[in-house]
Amino acid sequence: MRDTTRRQFIALSSGIATAGSAALLLRHVPAAAADKPGKKFEIERTPDEWRKLLTPAQYYILRDHGTERAFSHPYDKLYEAGVYNCAGCDLPLYSSTTKYDSRTGWPSFWKPLDNAIGTREDRTLWLMVRTEVHCRRCGGHLGHVFDDGPPPTRLRYCMNGAAMKFVPTRADASQDPKSAEKKL
Ligand SMILES: [Zn+2]
Repeated sequence: MRDTTRRQFIALSSGIATAGSAALLLRHVPAAAADKPGKKFEIERTPDEWRKLLTPAQYYILRDHGTERAFSHPYDKLYEAGVYNCAGCDLPLYSSTTKYDSRTGWPSFWKPLDNAIGTREDRTLWLMVRTEVHCRRCGGHLGHVFDDGPPPTRLRYCMNGAAMKFVPTRADASQDPKSAEKKL
């Protein structure tokens, strides 16, 4: 009898959760290939090691899952040709060709580069489930993805500018890294 009661309780609870979710999660993108909890990343460092490598703003976002103030980062309004790399491990994450003005105050893209990001369900906000986006290689938190973006994907990858490093195309084009440095 106890088991039956427990099963009924679980069924009831999940029913309530599903009904609530339908109304509240219109902007939630299902994380189909979401990382499992405790997943190991290719680049793993201790908090102290990360602190030495990152600025306080980068650490706050990448390692503490922080969010920068809207309209605060210059990348929000940057539309030069180039690639946005992870500020933690330099992995190329987004191309400027998929960047657009979402008017949210955060740099926004409609698609990441191939094999650049991972996702996880994020339930840290009360009554709202979001899809968290992080660097595939170092696990650094980058932002979230929502389903109110432009075509062709209709997705909005809402990123923190401080979690990324912009590399302009003109520096990439040079064959000689030293001459590229001089130009910068
Ligand atoms: Zn990274």
